[in-house]
Amino acid sequence: MELRKLLGVPHRRYNPLTREWILISPHRTQRPWQGQLETTPSPSSSAYDPNCYLCPGNERAGGSRNPPYSTTLVFDNDFAALRLDVEYGTVNENNQGILVAAGESGTCRVICFSPRHDLTLSSMTVDGICKVVEVWIDQFRELGDHSSINYVQIFENRGEMMGCSNPHPHGQIWASESVPNEPRKEQDSLADYRRRSGRCLICDYIRVEAASEERIVCQNEHFVVVVPFWASWPFEVLVLCKKHRRDICDLDDGESFALADILKRVTTRYDNLFQVPFPYSMGFHQRPTDGDEHLEWHFHGHFFPPLLRSASVRKFMVGYELLASPQRDITPETAAERLRNCSEHCSS
Ligand SMILES: [Zn+2]
Ligand SMILES: [Zn+2]
Ligand SMILES: [Zn+2]
Repeated sequence: MELRKLLGVPHRRYNPLTREWILISPHRTQRPWQGQLETTPSPSSSAYDPNCYLCPGNERAGGSRNPPYSTTLVFDNDFAALRLDVEYGTVNENNQGILVAAGESGTCRVICFSPRHDLTLSSMTVDGICKVVEVWIDQFRELGDHSSINYVQIFENRGEMMGCSNPHPHGQIWASESVPNEPRKEQDSLADYRRRSGRCLICDYIRVEAASEERIVCQNEHFVVVVPFWASWPFEVLVLCKKHRRDICDLDDGESFALADILKRVTTRYDNLFQVPFPYSMGFHQRPTDGDEHLEWHFHGHFFPPLLRSASVRKFMVGYELLASPQRDITPETAAERLRNCSEHCSS
């Protein structure tokens, strides 16, 4: 059976990173939309907001005050979901494997990308984003060296639709004792693939995408952005390092600059897709910091944006998605084509 013949009819696609399936129903894009319409976010206009807890010099909710920083700022989250002082221990009530729990220690930090309240990754300069990449590298190294931290999750939630109420450009790092679910699934798949083939799953996937170019959105010397063959969110992309690097600390100077460049390009394309500051959750997956070598890991970034048809129509992961499996209407190939046709010129 040829892949091409499947593309016009409902079909399933396999995600080799999570080893889960997703349902694609290309014909459903015709259906009329009677669902919820979101309000279109407007970009913040002032470089400084006296009421913002991330702007330089302002007081935070926890009572501490931000220094007058001029590039980036890192601080421990005032209301952290993880603490480093939690005592280790697993509980398995009656040895039944039903009521199982474990203490989890870790730490949560906030990173302000810029002192400017009105910027986004897409409107920052590549040099400005390079400073953020440097912070991510330093933080990964520092937190990863901690004996009770085995995974460092770097991420950004952007836009109210993703639950982020503060437009000030910032991201988070949650570093934990255990490897969380999503990287754990990828860990197992990458390790299995390497055991079976002796090669890296993501290096092989990059070769597959480079051969067809159908799902490639953009690229530079060291990174390529694709709408993955198995994407669940409408305009989901993967940011892939072309060389085999296990983590962000493995990047050389040219590669970290290229990462900053590709992040600016992909977020600018997003903003230009529906002419709004594009909401998304993004983050990086990389090797666990548990002391093992993890040659199977290949550093990459994910962007999960919720918008579907316009600035005001979002994709909901409900019903079938919650109970059965993720489903999408537009094909990943169409999504890639639409993102490819967006300008990389920042309009603001
Ligand atoms: Zn601010
Ligand atoms: Zn690789
Ligand atoms: Zn991943």
